[in-house]
Amino acid sequence: MPDARAPFPCSQCGKCCEHVGNLAATADLDRGDGVCKFYEQTTRQCRIYDQRPDICRVDRQYALHYQPLMSWEAFVALNTRGCKTLQALDDTPTAPGSGAAPD
Ligand code: SF4
Repeated sequence: MPDARAPFPCSQCGKCCEHVGNLAATADLDRGDGVCKFYEQTTRQCRIYDQRPDICRVDRQYALHYQPLMSWEAFVALNTRGCKTLQALDDTPTAPGSGAAPD
């Protein structure tokens, strides 16, 4: 039977790959500054996309761990909130006085 689910609406912003250090499940991908060691920042592409780990595959994570717990739509909504949280991290302007400006 064909899969009639709508695909995960990934915008390819790359924020999940730029913040692997934030999650224990992806921390082993951290190249040392929070960014995945397989992420190509200039193109926002994964250099091992076809062989990327299961943790990077939304469909696979759903099938492995979440399908008994929630609908695909609820899982997508949950992950989409995560995307927006990561996007907001980088969009947050630095508060006045919080930087390392000289006195
Ligand atoms: S392995 Fe690829 S998809 Fe997974 S976090 Fe790294 S760059 Fe992103």
